[in-house]
Amino acid sequence: MHEAVVKLGGSVITDKGSETLRVRHDAVTRLAREIGDAGLERLILVHGAGSYGHRIVKRTGIDGGVERPGGLLAWAETQRLQYLLAAEVSERFIQAGVPTIPCQASASSILRRRELTSMDVEVARQIMERGGVPLFYGVPAVDLEQGCAILSGDQIAPYLAHALGLGLVVHGTDVDGVYEGDPASGQSPRVDHVHSGNAEAVQRRVGGSAVVDVTGGMSGKLESLVRWARRGVCARIVDATRPGRVAQALAGESVGTLVSWEESL
Ligand code: ADP
Repeated sequence: MHEAVVKLGGSVITDKGSETLRVRHDAVTRLAREIGDAGLERLILVHGAGSYGHRIVKRTGIDGGVERPGGLLAWAETQRLQYLLAAEVSERFIQAGVPTIPCQASASSILRRRELTSMDVEVARQIMERGGVPLFYGVPAVDLEQGCAILSGDQIAPYLAHALGLGLVVHGTDVDGVYEGDPASGQSPRVDHVHSGNAEAVQRRVGGSAVVDVTGGMSGKLESLVRWARRGVCARIVDATRPGRVAQALAGESVGTLVSWEESL
């Protein structure tokens, strides 16, 4: 695989369940090397918000609009925190020799009823043509119906893959794919392939996140991926906390869970 969108979950790059804003520098540094070493011809990075986003959004309710008092300031503060996180992530990737260029998705995106309806991708295309690596991240964004909504990394990643013709989305999260029940139980088998034939049944069994998450946890991720799979986007969900897993996915190995519309591979 010579091109991909790699989404790094907030559960991987931050201490998602924690009150404190703490980047997992060791994990980000390791992933920067892993992804850099994959030597992709075209690469886009997307990251989630983790502890930098979900708690403030849950507390202030800006995923449902900004009409209540203090709503606009909460939007502004949430956006500011994502700048800080993106700066930390890009610093580690730059140190590893990956020329990441942060791109602020909410500056060129429109949502309607929480769905991403348009995003300007031309700048990302131009950055990649020059050998750079656009870095997107989940942010609060303009929503034409409710004022403001959360544009998640899980929405951004397949949208970009489709718009820019990148063959694969690798979702690095803290579980090694989609499980038939709660992965924490250790009893649930993994679903190796989610496709047109089993997508609905699998989606019914999948839950949110074990910690505070305003964008739906695995359920939100899968819903977005299944919708884009219909339009030809392939994704692989893997445990990015395991050294080497993202590299394996980028090398085309059958790790984690594949989401693609075609039932036969
Ligand atoms: P990230 O922050 O990495 O994007 P999320 O917290 O949004 O990750 O989603 C991953 C979480 O989804 C897992 O940690 C797990 O707690 C939860 N989850 C719920 N049901 C399932 C399932 N059936 N299979 C896998 N993960 C699940």
